[in-house]
Amino acid sequence: MPIQTAVELEEVSHVYVNSQGAYLALEQIGLKVNQGEFVSLIGPSGCGKTTLLSLISGLLIPTTGSVRVSGELIQEPTPRVGYMLQQDYLFPWRTIYENASIGLELMGRRDSAAKETVLELLHDMGLSEFADRYPNQLSGGMRQRVALVRTLATEPDLLLLDEPFSALDYQTKLQLEDLVAVTLLARNKTAILVTHDITEAIAMSDRIVVLQPNPGRVLAAVDIPPNIREALPLKAREEAGFHNLFHRLWGYFEDMDAEGGK
Ligand code: ADP
Ligand code: MG
Repeated sequence: MPIQTAVELEEVSHVYVNSQGAYLALEQIGLKVNQGEFVSLIGPSGCGKTTLLSLISGLLIPTTGSVRVSGELIQEPTPRVGYMLQQDYLFPWRTIYENASIGLELMGRRDSAAKETVLELLHDMGLSEFADRYPNQLSGGMRQRVALVRTLATEPDLLLLDEPFSALDYQTKLQLEDLVAVTLLARNKTAILVTHDITEAIAMSDRIVVLQPNPGRVLAAVDIPPNIREALPLKAREEAGFHNLFHRLWGYFEDMDAEGGK
């Protein structure tokens, strides 16, 4: 099967305009992500990572340039793209099952096939016995698993993950990284992860894109070697070459610090 392009950004720039004036948040971003690929975006706070995801999801329209998902020009939010955030935004008055079904409900899907999809995903995430509970009865890690079910239930081609593990304790975060990796791999989903954790980016990705701030631009793109790429995130951290890669990426951050301090 030929490699298909899942996401393509061409010469994307974005200017925020408000009462204080105009701010160039992203300048001339080019990015191509293949079907089934896992790409992480890293870079210092304010370099435009969230802006970039908002542009890919259609929540923002770029000032110049184009965003395509599965070949289609993105000009508004689309069910092709699922978004998962640091905060789970579960509704406290809805059960876990009802929360997980929201995306499908919004698409007008309340049929038995929709129900089956949600129940199956809850099962895959080890949440079957919690379907009738409420969010406040679940731990942070379980709540993020519900958020993942909600995101996957609408069967998006592309998942955007904006620091989905960063509010979790370390052990939960590592477990969830593995679960997400296995889940996305089994479904051949394309994903773009934003994280400020360099080790997480190396452990989870096929490729890492480093962004620099003021204005947000692509500083470097780093391919992850096969031995690390093919291991699940927890094991990947023990693979040969992992620490060298960490130091290389860390170096980009140090260089940016030095630039910023000039
Ligand atoms: P990151 O996610 O990498 O921390 P963001 O994409 O949130 O960065 O923000 C990039 C830059 O754009 C920052 O300097 C931020 O202050 C600015 N910015 C973000 N949202 C807005 C907005 N709605 N209006 C004006 N400036 C914004
Ligand atoms: Mg952000």
